[in-house]
Amino acid sequence: MELENGKLVIISGPSGSGKSTVVRGLLETCDLPLVVSVSATTREPREGERDGFDYHFLSKESFAERFAAGDFLESKEVFGRGHWYGTLRDEVQAGLSNGKWVVLEIDVGGALAVLEEVPDCITIFVYTSSLDELEQRLRNRKTDSEASIQRRLEVAQHELDQRHKYKHAILNQRVDDTIQEVCNTLAQYGENT
Ligand code: 5GP
Repeated sequence: MELENGKLVIISGPSGSGKSTVVRGLLETCDLPLVVSVSATTREPREGERDGFDYHFLSKESFAERFAAGDFLESKEVFGRGHWYGTLRDEVQAGLSNGKWVVLEIDVGGALAVLEEVPDCITIFVYTSSLDELEQRLRNRKTDSEASIQRRLEVAQHELDQRHKYKHAILNQRVDDTIQEVCNTLAQYGENT
């Protein structure tokens, strides 16, 4: 994958670490040419989610076809429950070709896969101070079954152990501060280009 005039930014971290809120806040407040790459998934849309904005919602068949065609920069079955997620190469390349800083909000496995193919990408790990806090957030959002919460916590523990592989790890305590810190961190990459 060619970065051309753009940059590839990965915001990753355990499920429930607040990374989607951070990404939304960055788009609203950070003065950099950021765009988010919309991932594909085979899971059902949650209430309020829109196709083409939150995700490209694909059937398992069309996901498999696009996988076979090599359309994904990375893809992964998340949580072992049969739902696939993937980053579409053409989404990313379109942004990079326009000189944008393309943000991927993906899980840790996906982030490490992209890092292998694009070593120059900027990797940021967002995490909460404890698994207890993460559990509280997952419960508060009321979208997950008990089994799903337990599974996500197990994955989160494993993911926390990977944070040294990222260029930056940022503790998310007050979300506005986190957004500012991520923005400042990214801005450093624009200073000498
Ligand atoms: P959710 O179902 O809650 O939207 O997302 C579940 C998990 O999948 C989150 O940790 C999210 O970051 C991750 N995810 C979303 N899109 C992608 C993707 O394109 N690739 C990978 N590897 N993970 C993704």
